Amino acid sequence: MTARVIPVVRAEAPRLAHAPDATSLAGLVPGTDTRGRPLRDLRISVTDRCNFRCSYCMPREAFGPDHPFLPHADLLSFEEIARLAGIFVARGVRKLRLTGGEPLMRRHLENLVALLSPLRTPDGAPVDLAITTNGSLLTRKAEVLAAAGLRRVTVSLDALEPGRFRALSDSNIRVEDVLAGIDAAAAAGLGPVKVNVVVRGGVNDDQILPIARHFRGSGHIVRFIEYMDVGTTNGWRADEVVTGRRILDTIGEAYPLEPLPGNAVGEVARRWRYVDGAGEIGVITSISQTFCGDCNRARLSPEGGLYLCLFAEQGHDLRALLRDGADDARIAAAVDAIWRARTDAYSEQRAALAPSRSQRRIEMSYIGG
Ligand code: SAM
Ligand code: SF4
Ligand code: SF4
Repeated sequence: MTARVIPVVRAEAPRLAHAPDATSLAGLVPGTDTRGRPLRDLRISVTDRCNFRCSYCMPREAFGPDHPFLPHADLLSFEEIARLAGIFVARGVRKLRLTGGEPLMRRHLENLVALLSPLRTPDGAPVDLAITTNGSLLTRKAEVLAAAGLRRVTVSLDALEPGRFRALSDSNIRVEDVLAGIDAAAAAGLGPVKVNVVVRGGVNDDQILPIARHFRGSGHIVRFIEYMDVGTTNGWRADEVVTGRRILDTIGEAYPLEPLPGNAVGEVARRWRYVDGAGEIGVITSISQTFCGDCNRARLSPEGGLYLCLFAEQGHDLRALLRDGADDARIAAAVDAIWRARTDAYSEQRAALAPSRSQRRIEMSYIGG
């Protein structure tokens, strides 16, 4: 049985990948990829829909009323996701992150959380189960998600000023609702809440300091993210990237910072703390200081495509394996073989690869951050 490649442009006929023909895992230790990187982290995108239209991710011109979002029947069911997640955890994954689109738009997401939270790594540790959300539905959902076993929440927030927030999210959601969602998550025990800020020069770089100031001393951890050239619709321009160094300088001038050691191999944020003890921030420098060298993340699309990089142009169709009746060992063998063949390191090779990249690249809203 083979894993099929899902074309990113779904109107085109699917192309078949030459999938691994491994059939048994007996004695097979989960492998590393061609650069020696183990598989430790699985991002699970549960929907390609969202109630925001952030221009760097789902610009309304490209994601308007006629956009062909995935029909529900094409999405993996919660049971299918949980089965795949169990296989990935048995093969070494320790972190599961639910994302999207907006993951809280998927109805009763807590039922999926309840299926995932009992998973244990081979050494018996609970999986680190987290969600990345725009926060708009968190006041309603935080408690039920925590009760289902969710451990941590990351909330995206690109501006504090109400008008600016509304313009950037291109939605009717109020920034107060997102801030209340962050509080609700912390109150439900899902802290420390991480707050993701994508910084774009001339768009919201004036919000760096207000956001840092707002969350200083709150116990929440703000992570400032360099704007990335994901997908084909956001019209990314290098001159809009604000480097992590500039972000740190902006904050550090007002509130002196010192570096912290990293938490774990594969962690994307470089950590800093306020010298006066008011907490921690992070910068994610996917453009100016790349971290492909220890990237241990795979991504599962809403329709069951396994992608090995945020900038991948093709996915491997695990849904076909599931729905064709493959047993766990067979799926695990396919995942192992796909991972062992992995060469991805796009950010390291951006300068060389960017000009020749095709129009088949996946969108952030399809695969999640
Ligand atoms: N809707 C959820 C949210 O916004 O948190 C989850 C999905 S969203 C695609 C995941 C993360 O990707 C968000 O923190 C978002 O800001 C980030 N993101 C989206 N497009 C990006 C881009 N072009 N560059 C950097 N980060 C991006
Ligand atoms: Fe939606 Fe998140 Fe993309 Fe914004 S970044 S459009 S909230 S999926
Ligand atoms: Fe990982 Fe791809 Fe990002 Fe490099 S560019 S860190 S390989 S997701």
